[in-house]
Amino acid sequence: MKMEDVKQVLKKHDIQPTNQRVIILNYLMNNYDHPSCDKIYDELSAIYPIMNRATIYNSLNLFVEKGILSPIYLNDKCRYEIKKPGHGHFICQECQKITDFSVNLNNSYSLDGYEVLNTDITFRGICPLCLEKKKEE
Ligand SMILES: [Zn+2]
Ligand SMILES: [Zn+2]
Repeated sequence: MKMEDVKQVLKKHDIQPTNQRVIILNYLMNNYDHPSCDKIYDELSAIYPIMNRATIYNSLNLFVEKGILSPIYLNDKCRYEIKKPGHGHFICQECQKITDFSVNLNNSYSLDGYEVLNTDITFRGICPLCLEKKKEE
């Protein structure tokens, strides 16, 4: 995605596209690994020494508030991803890896009369790689 497109996304969500916000959002749009705030800081500050933790933290909160990002809470830590409906998360309790899987939101969930604003579907367990490791032990 081009920086100009990232700026448009920010503007569309009523966010002033400062350089640092553009860099942070661009990073998230190209990272599908549900990074934590610490990881985002580590990777961005290595490339852009002007990045500081507070700016990243505040930007992430703003992006969540404006509906660009979804937070995923995992062991008291927060991970982030671009908001996209129709997928759930499988969290491996061994390696903490988060895997996306598609969810059919057209199924009826007996919520007649409710307005659903957010879906947060999380399954926990052990991923195939860790299951394989366990077998070898
Ligand atoms: Zn695993
Ligand atoms: Zn996801």
